Amino acid sequence: MIGQPTREGAGERLLARALAAPGRPERVTHVERVPALPGRSAPWPAWADPELTARWQAAGVSSPWQHQCAAAEHAWAGRHVVLATGTASGKSLAYLLPALTAVREGARAPSGREATALYLSPTKALAADQHRALAALAFPDVRVATVDGDATMEERDWARRFAGYVLTNPDMLHCSLLPGHARWAPFLRALRFVVVDECHGYRGVFGSHVAAVLRRLRRVCAHYGAHPTFILASATVSEPAVSAARLTGLPVIAVTEDASPRGPLTFAMWEPPLTELSGERGAPVRRTANAEAADLLTDLTVDGVRSLTFVRSRRGAETVAMTARRLLGEVDPALSPRVAAYRGGYLPEERRALERALVSGELLGLATTNALELGVDVAGLDAVVLVGYPGTRASTWQQAGRSGRGGRGALAVLIGRDDPLDTYLLHHPEALFGRPVEATVLDPDNPYVLAPHLCAAASELPLTAADLDVFGPATSALLHRLVSDGLLRRRQAGWFWTRRERAADLADLRSTGGSPVQVAERGTGRLLGTVPPAAAHTTVHEGAVYVHQGVTYLVEELDLAAPSALVVRADPDWTTQARDVTRIRIAGTTRTRSWGEATLHLGTVEVTNQVVSFLRRRILTGEVLGEEPLDLPPRTLSTVAVWWTVSDAQVARAGIAPAELPGAAHAAEHASIGLLPLFATCDRWDIGGVSTPMHPDTGRATVFVYDGHPGGAGFSERAYETAATWLQATRDVIGDCGCAEGCPSCVQSPKCGNGNDPLDKPAAVRLLTQLLAGSTEQLRAAPVDPALDYGPTPARARPRAGANT
Ligand SMILES: [Zn+2]
Ligand SMILES: [Zn+2]
Repeated sequence: MIGQPTREGAGERLLARALAAPGRPERVTHVERVPALPGRSAPWPAWADPELTARWQAAGVSSPWQHQCAAAEHAWAGRHVVLATGTASGKSLAYLLPALTAVREGARAPSGREATALYLSPTKALAADQHRALAALAFPDVRVATVDGDATMEERDWARRFAGYVLTNPDMLHCSLLPGHARWAPFLRALRFVVVDECHGYRGVFGSHVAAVLRRLRRVCAHYGAHPTFILASATVSEPAVSAARLTGLPVIAVTEDASPRGPLTFAMWEPPLTELSGERGAPVRRTANAEAADLLTDLTVDGVRSLTFVRSRRGAETVAMTARRLLGEVDPALSPRVAAYRGGYLPEERRALERALVSGELLGLATTNALELGVDVAGLDAVVLVGYPGTRASTWQQAGRSGRGGRGALAVLIGRDDPLDTYLLHHPEALFGRPVEATVLDPDNPYVLAPHLCAAASELPLTAADLDVFGPATSALLHRLVSDGLLRRRQAGWFWTRRERAADLADLRSTGGSPVQVAERGTGRLLGTVPPAAAHTTVHEGAVYVHQGVTYLVEELDLAAPSALVVRADPDWTTQARDVTRIRIAGTTRTRSWGEATLHLGTVEVTNQVVSFLRRRILTGEVLGEEPLDLPPRTLSTVAVWWTVSDAQVARAGIAPAELPGAAHAAEHASIGLLPLFATCDRWDIGGVSTPMHPDTGRATVFVYDGHPGGAGFSERAYETAATWLQATRDVIGDCGCAEGCPSCVQSPKCGNGNDPLDKPAAVRLLTQLLAGSTEQLRAAPVDPALDYGPTPARARPRAGANT
């Protein structure tokens, strides 16, 4: 349904053009018109360094926005604060104002370094941006240093001795600054502020690691008598204060009201049409999102509109660009070269050349992966096409916000892919445009993550009883285990690291759990790529078809000890799909609640998974050509799960016959996994599920969803907390889907180990209805509220104000 335009803008005109072709208007499921808003400013705080504010005023920032001021005031008063506002709302001014004011004051003290600040970013590129922004402010008395993996010994030495403002990342903190804290003592002793930028990036297992690193930092600072104030910057998410408190281990205040101005944005939700083809088990097949994107890119380019198309995969970016070039060639051969692909894996020179061509206008359209997300600022874009939901609300606005110019408006189009999450968003746009339901989750108590950091902490400074509070409730039991494992020694004064190796090497912040499997070509020995260990059994077993950069290989041998897989070049007309058997055992229940006769639980589980065979399927039709057994060992995962049960009476009331129950539970499980990323910042590949008509540990029909990482990552916990809304959305996405028997948009899953069999779509809806009937909980999704921050401030649509760095 298309609403009436509320305001004329470039976005409206471009949308009208895009809808001019036959069949197009029916594809648009919703148009959100994000109105232009004026900014609301506040006076500079009285404590702010006048030279600093003068520098900003000279750069065009006459006064700060209200949210910048509110966050800065909290920080200056020593209250930990998280600023969760939209892309380009000037979050950096909010932390630079207190941090630089303090550092400059400290520089005037006799010691020359009474106050310091530490800035942490998840990526090197972002830290480099920040360094440039600080250099542009040009204060000779603020000594800035970037300490990352590229810094030379001399640079690090200079930073330790003189820097007042240090830019680094959690990895460096973990492996260099904290283990060598004694040499950083003068800097740490004076530490007033810790800035944690893009903190929504610290999620899942990585986020849990960073939480432990920040606790180690706080402890080492306290040793030197410093108690820095934390300032966090986040994208708009649900409950930012809760996430920030989990990350830092401190009480944190949230500032969420975005007072920066924005230009009008027309945001269309686009559903590809059904085709004549049929897919797995006769499911209807939609035209691919890539094909739709190539059409839109072609039309925009013909009209001379500068645009970016964000594609989820490297291969997708190539496909979209190639298709658009071919289509353009049919219209006017001169237009073909004005479209290109951009992705990771290109040489730096190639990337720079593409960026220059886009900025100069020589290139009109670029199909890109999120490799372009940070760093490159492209002015003068009128349209952005998103191929598939980027996975988080934050990335959606980051990408959509790249268009718009001089307040004249811009167009964003989100083309849904054929999966439950995208389909849900296309039909429930309030989940994207209303109050956020997605929260950044992490689990600072994960024992698998915390244990190596306790060793690292003990090697930095012996752990004492007082430190138990810093590292949380799991610490005491873990220390006991580390002592009995011979990693730590218990003495009168506390727990000590006495081994010769570096304790920090025990934890790998960005690990994927074990060594990745190397995929190499037989004969040449050429390394093609790596596969995460968790995916090895299903993707590179003997006989598997392995695709790398569009080239197809067959796996000849999987060596689990090495671990490596040998492949040979081949062009089979089939694909392979592994089949596995998963058993789940409940190890402990931590939380339980009832919804009438149904029950909901959070706890620890042991998941045993064994890949037992694989199917060969013809590429075009999906027809099964045969099944071959595999001899792979079972693997066990101890993790956290959420599970729900229904009573036999509920099953009967739902009109589900015993033979239908496995298909109903299995279908509900698949769809719920597909939708969880809307509530917890995870990927559907980060979680797994098991459903059964009768589980021995519960004695009832039970559906489990578990974190796919040892010890858990916080996803199941978030699922437990938002269960009513999450499972309601699950029921809606199945019930609303137009297919008859189930399709990839609702209950079919690309990662199903049972070949999507059995699945019973109508019975799943009835089962979920019974489950939810007993719930009296408030749903979390709120209606669209125009007064609330939407996130986007198209970067070029705002006047020069508020430091946008
Ligand atoms: Zn469907
Ligand atoms: Zn399945």
